[in-house]
Amino acid sequence: MGYWGGLDVGELLLAHELFHYVEEKHKKEIYTRTEKIRLWSLGPLHNDSTIIALSEIAAMAFARELVKLPYAPYVMDVFLVYGYSPEEASGLYEEMMELAGRTPCAPEERKDVE
Ligand SMILES: [Zn+2]
Repeated sequence: MGYWGGLDVGELLLAHELFHYVEEKHKKEIYTRTEKIRLWSLGPLHNDSTIIALSEIAAMAFARELVKLPYAPYVMDVFLVYGYSPEEASGLYEEMMELAGRTPCAPEERKDVE
């Protein structure tokens, strides 16, 4: 399991997947599965969908509690996205930093750490 700057990535991801396991066992009553949005309706026909993002947000919040992370584990999303699009990952990182009121910077701009 990868240990990265005080974070055991394997442990975090395991905790995340543990939530999905519990969620699957309780899919009939757990909010992340019962909450639906209507994609479209036409007369008596309609198409409802679960909100995947809800499930992912809950899984990360659960993992954060379980491994007692002092920061939001959503930053992990940047690395997961990086695998298929470095550009999108970079945009996501900048958006997260701006929403958190921080200044995004590239690694080479950081003179304080080596
Ligand atoms: Zn997930």
